[in-house]
Amino acid sequence: MMPGKVGTDTYLSPVTEIDGLSVDRLVREYGSPLFAFSEQTVRSNIQAAKRAFATRYPKVQFAWSYKTNYLSSICKIFHEEGSWAEVVSGFEFDKAVKNGVQGSHILFNGPAKTKEDLRKAVQKGAFIHLDSLDELYLLEEVADEEAERPKVAIRVNLDAGLAQKWDRFGFNLEDGQAWSAIAKVAQMEKLDLKGLHCHIGTFILSTKAYAKASEKMARLAYDVWQKLGVRLEYIDLGGGFASHNTLKASYLVGPDVCPSFDDYAEAITEAIYKVPFKTSELPMLVLETGRALIDDAGYLLSTVLSNKRSATGRRYVVIDAGVNMLFTSFWYDHKISPAQPYSKYFEDVSLFGPLCMNIDMIREYVCLPLLNRGDHLVIHNVGAYNVTQWMQFITLRPNVVMVKSDGSVVRVRQSESLSDVCEKEG
Ligand SMILES: *Cc1c(COP(=O)(O)O)cnc(C)c1O
Repeated sequence: MMPGKVGTDTYLSPVTEIDGLSVDRLVREYGSPLFAFSEQTVRSNIQAAKRAFATRYPKVQFAWSYKTNYLSSICKIFHEEGSWAEVVSGFEFDKAVKNGVQGSHILFNGPAKTKEDLRKAVQKGAFIHLDSLDELYLLEEVADEEAERPKVAIRVNLDAGLAQKWDRFGFNLEDGQAWSAIAKVAQMEKLDLKGLHCHIGTFILSTKAYAKASEKMARLAYDVWQKLGVRLEYIDLGGGFASHNTLKASYLVGPDVCPSFDDYAEAITEAIYKVPFKTSELPMLVLETGRALIDDAGYLLSTVLSNKRSATGRRYVVIDAGVNMLFTSFWYDHKISPAQPYSKYFEDVSLFGPLCMNIDMIREYVCLPLLNRGDHLVIHNVGAYNVTQWMQFITLRPNVVMVKSDGSVVRVRQSESLSDVCEKEG
């Protein structure tokens, strides 16, 4: 789909409903701005991703990346669909436990685990993905104090051919740090080496990068078995699959450049099959993909507050949803649809949020029909990283609703009130 001068027809169709529920009604009942999630989309996304991998590889396990969206109602859908939890802080670990995830289904990543975090993880039998030698020494202390033998994986960073190399997490493969950490842990009686982990970055549009990383990880697991005699249970390739959003400065729109789950799965599994494991010996393949599973299930419904003209004659539209709740607008050109039928007159506008701050711009250039105060807009692909990275700044966080598969709506997070803020001040 190539965009024409004013986008494409479908790109600008009014979006009056979310899964059959009228935007007008949602805003009337739950206020504006409003985050709305589609249960149906979440389920179909995770089912499609699972199908893509399970039809190509014998043992696949998804783990939901909590930081991408840790609303309990969202996490629980993923857990119902069979996903484990992938957490990166003590708080996220506790949230996963509260959501009913058993410890042995939690993968604990992150560079800042405290001794108490490690103790919790050990007691619950979670998989601890080691990020540094200091963390390893801390875990040894915990192992001496606890009855359970900690289950660990080594976080590896590697050159997957990407311009931006993430080498700040875990141990580097190419310079030998990863191998020495693995060898160290493998000979420690008190630790149980279970797997290898890597996460090559985020919004990775290149399936080749995954192929490269997967082959290196599978080869590493094979070498660990052959040379150290440790047969690892899993290799974890992290997350980072792109969603259908459009990165700023990209000419083509997101849906045209984003690989499908089948594309990713094909690249990853083909690469693993280059390593001489017998089928029955293959390690479990773990995937922690976040944004690609949730971005298009989230919408931000908003209302036009005013129209004005810039000093140079450009049309400015001010809406009630700002960057305080739409963090991702800093790197995406979010797709924006009017939520009511519109005239045939379009104009390039700059779209601003309601904050009294110059940075509060949702889109610098977007072609929209003429809008009146009170008209609604639907901002698409906002399901990842917004309801976790949003901040209470100038305004309060809004309601979040879920449109359920049966067509009903439930509020899954209540909007904040003055007392939520003031209470904390004593
Ligand atoms: C953030 C993160 C993920 C999820 O990344 P996405 O880009 O949302 O897919 C997975 N694993 C780790 C270790 C992460 O830090």
